[in-house]
This record gives sequence, structure tokens and C-alpha cells, in this order.
Amino acid sequence: MKFNNLGIIDPILKALRDKKYVTPTEIQQKAIPIVLNRRDILGCAQTGTGKTAAFAIPIIQLIQKIEIRRKRRTKIRALIVTPTRELAIQIDDNIREYSKYTQVRNTVIFGGVKQHAQVEKLKKGVHILVATPGRLLDLVDQGYVQLDAVKIFVLDEADRMLDMGFINDIRKMLKILPTNRQSLFFSATMPKNIVELSRSILHHPKRVNVSPVSSAAETVKQVVYYTNKRDKKNLLLHILQNEEINQVLLFSRTKHGADRISRDLRKKRISANVIHGDKAQNHRQRALKNFKEGKIKVLVATDIAARGIDINKLEYVINYDIPNVAETYVHRIGRSGRAGEDGKAISICEPEENAFIREIERLIKQPISVIKNHPFQQTDKPMTEQEKKAWRKEKQRRKQEFFANRKKQ
Ligand code: AMP
Repeated sequence: MKFNNLGIIDPILKALRDKKYVTPTEIQQKAIPIVLNRRDILGCAQTGTGKTAAFAIPIIQLIQKIEIRRKRRTKIRALIVTPTRELAIQIDDNIREYSKYTQVRNTVIFGGVKQHAQVEKLKKGVHILVATPGRLLDLVDQGYVQLDAVKIFVLDEADRMLDMGFINDIRKMLKILPTNRQSLFFSATMPKNIVELSRSILHHPKRVNVSPVSSAAETVKQVVYYTNKRDKKNLLLHILQNEEINQVLLFSRTKHGADRISRDLRKKRISANVIHGDKAQNHRQRALKNFKEGKIKVLVATDIAARGIDINKLEYVINYDIPNVAETYVHRIGRSGRAGEDGKAISICEPEENAFIREIERLIKQPISVIKNHPFQQTDKPMTEQEKKAWRKEKQRRKQEFFANRKKQ
């Protein structure tokens, strides 16, 4: 199967050749004909499968063939809503590349930056708008965005949208959108609340399923180092110095932890930067750009910030902590080994996290290779429930003591 067989118009085929795409990915093969036939989609697929092009290509084609050839006014005809700013920017960039030989115009809006530049672009007129929910509703309220001509609505990463608390924003959006429209709904997972949400959006959808969450693990070589909590820092340095790592995306569960890791690495003269929700948008963009251009070795990220980031040929991912939700692990390692490239995921596991590794192995239905030969072996035992309780109490006591002392000063 080649892109030519999917009935795609020449200007888009030419752009895909420039991108060196030869064969459509599974989701592209399945979804493109459905969208071109004006049907709704309920898609279970995650980032890394070629999902963006699967909806972007047919949307560009429909707009080029219908709106532009018939010389209709430039209005927002397709709205793509996605949870994070990084993902929004990436989708917008992809659309610009796929549509460069057409007259289709697109732009992106997201929060965390001043709105002026975004409003100016909107005023010039666009066919496709990519948006994060908050800024979209804000600009709708201010009258800068009109959604009455929208014919195609895409809700991307729906599960993450709900995780991030966007449900009310989605409901508001649905009230504004024309009811007579085509809708494409994508989610990496399909729990009950997501299926229910999809019912309120879609009309006789076609289901498209690709790579269930556990299969992303297949192309990535995975290893785990068992160590102690106090040795993690030194073990990380050992790994970064000994493995042939040019660049790595490193995950931390907390923003605070991410800042600390990056600081520690820089102290050891390893170039590192951080992206997480507390960092200003321009900082995050700069960090991502520097990383993509190979100027920094380690990009430290939290799960939400890293979701959807597309870095070509990212070979290594390091889990500095082991997620307590096994699916999160699969999302993390899915950042490497993208679109058929080989990847490697290294996990650094302290005693308290041993049980999480077992859960992950159950989900991915394969054992993770253990690196036995390293200088920071796990010697501590996981705490018993009683010890954990005592430790939580002690932490609480120290916190209170800290605040009490601060008040006194
Ligand atoms: P996505 O899942 O949309 O984030 O895409 C994942 C990566 O695969 C991106 O870097 C795309 O540029 C790339 N990609 C998408 N479709 C194809 C294709 N048909 N052939 C090669 N690479 C592709």
C-alpha cells in the first residue's frame, strides 16, 4: 500500500514525498478513506502511530477540494482541539508541511503567552485552527474566533483531556460548534467515561483501532537497573557516562524532582534542561528547540509536559522513577523508537518501586531485562506497610516543624 492508493491529491502527495513518507502507517491506511468519505471516527490510537497525518491529510484535502476550488470565503472549516501546547504546535507545524503546495491556511492558539500575535493571525483568515481548550474558549468569548462554519471537529488525546480536567471546556465547546458536522475522536485508551463522552460527540462512527497500549513496547529495547533511592543520582551519572547516549529524554514524576535532576546534571557539566507545567511557554519552547537541535544532552520532563512531544529518532528514554500506573510507562517509552526506529528505555528502580515493575511486565506481557553488572546494586528492602505509615507520619511531622520554624522567623 502506497499513499497514491488512498486517493490523495497531487499537491499533498508531493509534500509527503518531501517528508520522505513512502508507506502510510496502519492508522493512516484505515482512517484516511473514512474521513474522505465524510464519516465520523472513534479512534483508539496513541501519538507515535502517525495519527496526526491520519486526520490532517484528509482534512487538508477536503478543504482544498471543496472550499478553495469553489472559491468560498476563508473561514474556520476544521477545528482540532488537543490538550497540551506542545502537541498543538506540533500538529499545526505538521499541517503546514502537508499543505504547503495547497492554498489551505492554518494557525494555532494556546495559553501561557500573550494573545496578540495569535489574534493577528486569526484576523488574516484560516481554514484550520489547532487549539488548546482554555485559549480557544477565551478567544471565542472575545469574539476573535467564530466556529459557526466548522465542518470537521477533531478531539485529540481525549483521555488526557479528561485527566487534565478539561471536561467542562469540552462541553462548552460542543454547545458552540454546529451540530451538523463531521467529528473525529482520538484517545490512547478507551475507558468507560471516554466511550460515554464520545457518544455525545459522534454520529454513527467507524471504529479505528491501532496498536493497543501494550504493543508500543515491542520495538523498544527495555532494561531496568535495580538500585537504592540514595544511589539514583550517581547511577544516572554512571549510565550517562557509560552508555553510548547522545541524547535522552528523562522522565520525572514531579516538577520539583525534574528541576532537581536537571540542576544536579548541570553541576556535573552535563547539559540539561527541563520542561514542565510551571515553566513559562517560551522557556518550554526554547528547551524543546535546543534539544531537537542537539544542543542539550538531557531533556528532563514530567509526564504531562512530555505527552505528545515528537522528537525524530529519539533513541533513549530514561525513567528516573517508575510510574505507578503501568500505562504511563508505555506512553513514556513510546517517545523512543518512533515510526519504526529502534529505541531503548532504561528504568532506574528503587525498592519502593519494585512492585510497579511487576505490574508493567504484566501489562506488556514480557519481562524487562535486568542489568546486573553495575556499581549501585539494590541492597535496601522495600518498606513494610507499617514502616511506610511511620515514614509518612514522620514526613508530616517534619513539614509541620518546618512551617512552625518559618513562622517564628
Ligand atoms: P504522530 O503519531 O502523528 O505523532 O507521528 C509520529 C511520527 O511519525 C512523526 O514524526 C511523523 O512525522 C512520522 N510519520 C507519520 N506518518 C508517517 C509515514 N507514513 N511514514 C513515515 N513517518 C511518518
